[in-house]
Amino acid sequence: MELHAHDTLDHIKSMIKDLTDRDLRPFMDEWDEKQIFPVEFFKKLGELGLMGVLVPESYNGSGLGYKEYVTAISELASVDGSIGLSMAAHNSLCTGHILQFASEEQKLRWLPKLATAEWIGAWGLTEPNTGSDAGNMKTTAVRDGDHWVINGAKNFITHGISGNLAVVIVRTGEIGDSHGMTAFAIEKGTEGFSSGKKENKMGMRASETAELIFDHCRVSNENMIGKEGEGFVQSLKVLDGGRISIAALSLGIAQGAFNAALNYSQERYQFNQPIAKFQGISFKLADMATKIEAAKALTYRAADYKDKGKSVTLESAMAKYYASEVAVEVANEAVQIFGGYGYTKDFPVEKYYRDAKLCTIGEGTSEIQKLVIARNLLK
Ligand SMILES: Cc1cc2nc3c(=O)[nH]c(=O)nc-3n(C[C@H](O)[C@H](O)[C@H](O)COP(=O)(O)OP(=O)(O)OC[C@H]3O[C@@H](n4cnc5c(N)ncnc54)[C@H](O)[C@@H]3O)c2cc1C
Repeated sequence: MELHAHDTLDHIKSMIKDLTDRDLRPFMDEWDEKQIFPVEFFKKLGELGLMGVLVPESYNGSGLGYKEYVTAISELASVDGSIGLSMAAHNSLCTGHILQFASEEQKLRWLPKLATAEWIGAWGLTEPNTGSDAGNMKTTAVRDGDHWVINGAKNFITHGISGNLAVVIVRTGEIGDSHGMTAFAIEKGTEGFSSGKKENKMGMRASETAELIFDHCRVSNENMIGKEGEGFVQSLKVLDGGRISIAALSLGIAQGAFNAALNYSQERYQFNQPIAKFQGISFKLADMATKIEAAKALTYRAADYKDKGKSVTLESAMAKYYASEVAVEVANEAVQIFGGYGYTKDFPVEKYYRDAKLCTIGEGTSEIQKLVIARNLLK
């Protein structure tokens, strides 16, 4: 039942339900507990076309648009946020960067492998001392004939260990020059390129987050994506699309937490009635549902703009900011509705609560989204 261009949103939903019931729900608690990144599960996503959702069919992708992409991520994330996060990072960041900015030759080399999950993709912008302020990065690439020598480190990189290909943005010019950075695609096994510390995280524990280390790593000019000096500007454009995927991730987590709380509130009796009969609880459900609908409207609006080829810097920042804050609020209220049981691992809401928080941090914190929104309003 793999994905094809022109598939409907309902087809995507039912395909993901089948997959998650069979291959995700029975294992996800163990993956979370033990911090296992389930590479084999991602291979299955690849077989179904979910690892190359936006990649044209000519490169073995599914050739779908952002609305389908948003639906796929939020359906997966409504079951397990960390699977949604890894799927989003692979599709939007690594694959998305190559799709948007690589040469035809490079696309033919890498996209078919990424779109089928034969290869897992990573994308490295963040460094230990430069997160929000990524433009101040210290990792350098110095030209040596028709090669470049890279030294430095990237941290918090999704698939930093299991990734077969990493697109990294490094300094090739002066600090302070937004055109002083360049993107390279670096294959696993390249000499001088290795992985470092794997983070032990609060949530999103089945999504691998680790350091990339470059120690006199030599890469050919042929690995440069686009032109020298374009890397940072490219990465901002990649993040414009990526933020729609984090909004979708947030939406899925919020929906999953809400569904659990809605059911529980009708099953749990206190004072001889379901707790949903208490206005204090039903008003929480009303607020949660309303906020999810508002987040959904912003997210699908950004997806629609993207599909139409319009600029989405403002729309994706608004969607990401609002949906991620809603995911945290909804997951928090879901734990509250479950009471003491919500605080245990016997019920799913504590995991939604832990996973949701990443959404207000990754691909630009809420503060950075507000900065982007305000800059667009005031320009
Ligand atoms: C699970 C996970 C996966 C990730 N995956 C990737 C990945 O695949 N690739 C990648 O490149 N990065 C990745 N990241 C990194 C992520 O994008 C950064 O953590 C994020 O951008 C914030 O950077 P920082 O952690 O250095 O925080 P900092 O930038 O140090 O921010 C600390 C605090 O200061 C605030 N702040 C900073 N600047 C301003 C400002 N100008 N105005 C107001 N407040 C400000 C922030 O909002 C935040 O509250 C990942 C992170 C996590 C946790």
